[in-house]
Amino acid sequence: MPKRTEHRRDPSDVEITRFELMRIFDGDEEWLHTLEHNFFCGDCHVPNRRLINYRVMVTPLNDIALQGTCSGCNTIAARYVETGEDPEKVKRIQAVLRERKKG
Ligand SMILES: [Zn+2]
Repeated sequence: MPKRTEHRRDPSDVEITRFELMRIFDGDEEWLHTLEHNFFCGDCHVPNRRLINYRVMVTPLNDIALQGTCSGCNTIAARYVETGEDPEKVKRIQAVLRERKKG
């Protein structure tokens, strides 16, 4: 199955900054590091590949999608995180989105 060449853009997703992501992760750089190294990338099995140049999207379900490029094969790759299942993270996501609206 050929890989897509562009990320799907859902207009109901909200793009946030890496700084805001860190707020949601409560400063857990280790976790982000793990996510950057564990993502699905078709048949690509390049060792130590990493998700790079990614945008951070929040979905209407309060989940987070890191949409970027695989450093191993240079095609698009993404990591989906089901933060919507964690009430603490949902609280922080909602706080970030609220403050965004205030501008
Ligand atoms: Zn790859």
